[in-house]
Amino acid sequence: MYGKPLDAIGFVENFDPVVAKMMGNELQRQQDGLELIASENFASPAVIAAMGSILTNKYAEGLPGNRYYGGCHYVDELESLCIERAKQLFGAEAANVQPHSGAQANMAVELAILQPGDTMMGMSLANGGHLSHGSPANISGKYYNVVSYDVNHETGLIDYDQIRDMAKKCSPKLIIAGASAYPRAIDFKIFADIAHEVGAVFMVDMAHIAGLIAGGAHESPVPYADIVTTTTHKTLRGPRGGLILSREEYAKKINSAVFPGIQGGPLEHIIAAKAVCFQEAMQPEFKTYAHNIVKNAKVLASALLEEGFDLVTGGTDNHLMLADLRPMNITGAELQVRCDANHITLNKNAIPGDPQKPSVTSGVRIGTAAVTTRGLGEDEMKQIARCIALTAKDYEGTATEVKATVAQICEKFPLYR
Ligand SMILES: *Cc1c(COP(=O)(O)O)cnc(C)c1O
Repeated sequence: MYGKPLDAIGFVENFDPVVAKMMGNELQRQQDGLELIASENFASPAVIAAMGSILTNKYAEGLPGNRYYGGCHYVDELESLCIERAKQLFGAEAANVQPHSGAQANMAVELAILQPGDTMMGMSLANGGHLSHGSPANISGKYYNVVSYDVNHETGLIDYDQIRDMAKKCSPKLIIAGASAYPRAIDFKIFADIAHEVGAVFMVDMAHIAGLIAGGAHESPVPYADIVTTTTHKTLRGPRGGLILSREEYAKKINSAVFPGIQGGPLEHIIAAKAVCFQEAMQPEFKTYAHNIVKNAKVLASALLEEGFDLVTGGTDNHLMLADLRPMNITGAELQVRCDANHITLNKNAIPGDPQKPSVTSGVRIGTAAVTTRGLGEDEMKQIARCIALTAKDYEGTATEVKATVAQICEKFPLYR
């Protein structure tokens, strides 16, 4: 995938061989391993080149046409183009492309919609939600009155009736849907109905599934939600960054919440890379890519079930699955360490109602976005399931065999070379 090696490391090496060596090691690790972390992907050389560009030199506080610095005419054109592409890609009325990350995008929306002490609802971190949806450790949990909802611990599914009951009791000003570890399609229409019944603003955080939505492989929240936030670096395959889409009526408040609310100067080099990413996501090939991610996830899920793993909700509708490792008598932390040693990268993850500590967990989260970018297909998904199963069941006895299989797949589907 992607051809030619990246030049950036060579430029660094000319001045700073120590840093270049570290960058080179990481490139090698990416090339020689199977990347199954559900939130990761491989950006294209065009996206990476835009990020590593002279646009980093420019200060541009404010918005296109209304900046606090001179010399902004070219970055104004660029940021306006990026905004237009974001709106076009997702069919949104307004877009702010400046958030430095997904967490920053969410913080800005919370600042725009809520006063300190106001009530908001989001999925609990332990059940697959994100820190920025109201975790006590996050600013959202410290500044606002958070009422978190869980998934049903038996089925692993979102319980919409329970969420409606909770919302009626606590009258939140903001309801957040969206998750970091939920393997099923989310019904945005029901969420929107609940929000409207209780007079709440409805926000969807589509960070994980934005690429699937752009490629038509998951329903879009844009027609239902007042505000949609996302990262641009997960299934969307762009630069590390955030994005806020909204109905026109919220645009002004959101823009002021991003700057001067929580950020200073925008990262115009990242904004250029976001513009390239949105253009890539509008190509017909991206539709194929998004559908292949889901197809690969389904094949990997059934192969893991055949190997004896339990999967939360029994499978997947999107790019990720959550394996419940209790039948395997291994913790999430232990399987993550063993897989790392075998050049398979995934992460430990709590399962709903997990009896283990968050640093140990009974589960792992597995995603197919990055390996699908690399070109892997159904045959490789079955090989991967077998490798993970061997690593869980007989690590000592099979490490050589598993490493050889991983190396063979990586050789066959090269990355950046
Ligand atoms: C990844 C993620 C984020 C945060 O993104 P960062 O860029 O790491 O800040 C926010 N929300 C959800 C649902 C996520 O999965």
